[in-house]
Amino acid sequence: MGRLFSLFSDHTIKTRLQLWISAIILLLAFSIIVPFYFIEKSNRLEEARVQLKQVIALQSLYIERWNQEKLDAIKRFALSDNAKFHRIGDLKREFQDYAKVNSEFYSITFVEPDGNIRTDRTSIYVGDREYYRLGKEKKSLVSGVVMSKDNGAPVITFSSPVLGDHGEFKGIVLGIVTLEMLNKLMAQLSFGDTGEVYVLDDEGNIVTASNRAENSTIIQPVTSEIYQRAVSNSKDHSAYIGFRGESVYGQYRWSQGKNWLVVGEITQKEIFRKLNELSMTIIIISLIALLLSVAAAVMIASKIERPIRYLLRATKIIQKGNYDYQINVDKIRKAPVELRQLVATFNLMSDRLKSNISLLEHSAWMDQLTDVHNRRYMMLEGNKQLQSCIYSGQTCSVLMMDIDHFKKINDTYGHLVGDGVLHHVASILRRYAGEDAIVARYGGEEFILLLLRKDAQESAAVAEELRNIILEEPFSKESLTVKITASIGVAEYSPTLEYGTMVLEDMVSRADHALYRAKSGGRNRVVVDTKRLYDEDDHV
Ligand code: GH3
Ligand code: MG
Ligand code: MG
Repeated sequence: MGRLFSLFSDHTIKTRLQLWISAIILLLAFSIIVPFYFIEKSNRLEEARVQLKQVIALQSLYIERWNQEKLDAIKRFALSDNAKFHRIGDLKREFQDYAKVNSEFYSITFVEPDGNIRTDRTSIYVGDREYYRLGKEKKSLVSGVVMSKDNGAPVITFSSPVLGDHGEFKGIVLGIVTLEMLNKLMAQLSFGDTGEVYVLDDEGNIVTASNRAENSTIIQPVTSEIYQRAVSNSKDHSAYIGFRGESVYGQYRWSQGKNWLVVGEITQKEIFRKLNELSMTIIIISLIALLLSVAAAVMIASKIERPIRYLLRATKIIQKGNYDYQINVDKIRKAPVELRQLVATFNLMSDRLKSNISLLEHSAWMDQLTDVHNRRYMMLEGNKQLQSCIYSGQTCSVLMMDIDHFKKINDTYGHLVGDGVLHHVASILRRYAGEDAIVARYGGEEFILLLLRKDAQESAAVAEELRNIILEEPFSKESLTVKITASIGVAEYSPTLEYGTMVLEDMVSRADHALYRAKSGGRNRVVVDTKRLYDEDDHV
């Protein structure tokens, strides 16, 4: 059982749905077909039993009546005056007249009291026959199958004694019916395709079989199951192998006097044919249902699976850092509403993620107080841009700027005003540094500017301009005006680096030196680093 479940556990939604639906349908089909089959089987058997019973009741009545009619005819002849007074010629004419309208007797003859049947030419002795013995005892008889002394064929005899006025034995009227006759009769008594009624004599010989006239003259000693059952008066109703070699259900009924046994049989195949056909139909319908359901499962699964697949892929894409990835909702329009909601939520989340991450990135690169970039940004992004600028054969410069006597501003007006001054100076730098500049707060009241594609001279001009603007645009807040000056050191890119320093670091360090010189030179001025100039001089 555990293994069965583990069989399900590894599968995708689609295969799971397929497996479960197949299992349910097979279980359903099975639970319908099996009880249906067994209930229907016993119903069919019962039906067949009832039918057989009715048929053989009717048939044996019919045969009984037929026998009785034959015997009555023979009795009438035996009681006639012609018989009583041995008017043999007249009697034979009477027989012939009767035979004209009733063709079922093979012959009707008169047995002399001495046991001989006399014809024109010969005489046959039948004194050893049972009917002769019974006739002498003044009894009539319908025999079982006997071999005709006349032609050796199997026949049935109807006999009735002829008695004189005082009851003395005067001979026997004997009617002979060939089995052929009886067969013609029985042939009308078949039912269904394989149902047949046949007659056995008291020794189990088949007197006649209903369905096959060509077998009419064959007398088979029957060791058949049904004969055994009849002899032992058994109530067993199970199937057995009939005399034609097929599995059959049968019923029997003894004739009055127990000298004939009427048997009705129908093959098992016929009884269950319709049931088998019906079962087959149900199985085929179940299989079709199974196929359709599996197809439906595939459809439903793909509707569920598709958005899940998209979600799975989208999470992997986001995992790789593509935070604003959105799932195309047009592709899952037919998905169940919950999954569409899930996808919409996912898209909303990835949207928020993107804006949150850009916010985080922004604050990681920016200085909160002054709204210019921070030192980290300069060292990473500035460096990157500096490299590509140099790579494309252009030069760049760095400005280091420090507000003069800033400590005094703090001391005089307080730190809040100091902060305002920092923001004010930063905004001037942002506005006037030019498009190709990266402005960052280096720390405290120091700013760093990277001027891309500008040499020392151009940068010194920018620095000079900035210094002037700062000078001319004092910080003002309400009634307060604070005059500001700044000192700026300028350094241009130099390909000769001090051992172990990076390009930007080298420039920063030289700009810092220039700044130091601007401070010591009296502040509120621009000083250009001279190293580059010396380098050029070296070349000259
Ligand atoms: P110099 O002209 O030599 O540069 O003199 P200075 O007073 O500007 O230089 P100093 O290094 O002595 O003082 C810098 C002051 O800047 C000290 C510190 O309190 C102040 N400061 C640094 N960061 C901030 C800040 O974020 N806000 C405020 N209000 N003050 C700051
Ligand atoms: Mg300083
Ligand atoms: Mg200062």
